[in-house]
Amino acid sequence: MPGYDDLIEDVASSILSSKHTVALTGAGISVESGIAPFRGKGGLWERYDPEEYAHIATFMQNPARAWVLFKEMIEVIRRAKPNPAHLALARLEELGLLSCIITQNVDNLHQSAGSRNVIEFHGNIINLSCIECGKKQRCSEVSLDEIPPLCACGGVLRPDAVLFGEAIPFDALVSSRKEAEACDLMLVIGTSGIVQPAASMPLVAKDSGAKVVEINPEETPITFIADIFVKGGAGRVLSDIIRRVEDKLR
Ligand code: NAD
Ligand code: ZN
Repeated sequence: MPGYDDLIEDVASSILSSKHTVALTGAGISVESGIAPFRGKGGLWERYDPEEYAHIATFMQNPARAWVLFKEMIEVIRRAKPNPAHLALARLEELGLLSCIITQNVDNLHQSAGSRNVIEFHGNIINLSCIECGKKQRCSEVSLDEIPPLCACGGVLRPDAVLFGEAIPFDALVSSRKEAEACDLMLVIGTSGIVQPAASMPLVAKDSGAKVVEINPEETPITFIADIFVKGGAGRVLSDIIRRVEDKLR
């Protein structure tokens, strides 16, 4: 069994020899920024069932109920800052070593860290739009003292995030699949590998001949197809990887 340092060395070499690296990120990459994931220890799932609160049917029937979850996530996200894992991916892109990030997160932290090519697979919770007139508003410009927040037209506002029961935005789905098919290395970071269709992207990559690297403190359904599994938190592991990559470039 290779040790931790050997795995880091192996991932760094894979990144340097790859022609097209793509990262797929999930809620786990933002845990060290203080944003709880849905599943697992401390996850929102322990208190709410997101599949109920964040379901489009709940939102349409009782927007105030859905907004209890949205408001909590927005307040946490407003205080959150990118962590070393987000920064390491931004640095890889800057070095020309990462083509794009497909993220399931709705927290905008990759963009805050400086990543440019980010596919928001599940939209984001930073922008809101009116379900009546479609007008878009920045979440930061809207008071959440009363929920649900309303548009000037009286319509209910909703986040531009994909709710349970809704389809993935077509452009995001098409471009993610293209990236998964085209890459020769996919870094899968902090995702439970359960939420579909995002969870199928590593399979698409693997079927197209790519190497799959997984970084997660726990094994997931993706682990058995991973060529390299690095067990650990994204902050430490990606900091070690970027340090090794930069050492090798010197
Ligand atoms: P998930 O909540 O289902 O799973 C989180 C994964 O992160 C788990 O596999 C866990 O082992 C791992 N993890 C925990 N701590 C970690 C760490 N320090 N470093 C790396 N990994 C760690 O997340 P998911 O698979 O992304 O699916 C849930 C969906 O809910 C997402 O698609 C997303 O849309 C949404 N969500 C988003 C946010 C966010 O924007 N930050 C937060 C919660 C949920
Ligand atoms: Zn309106």
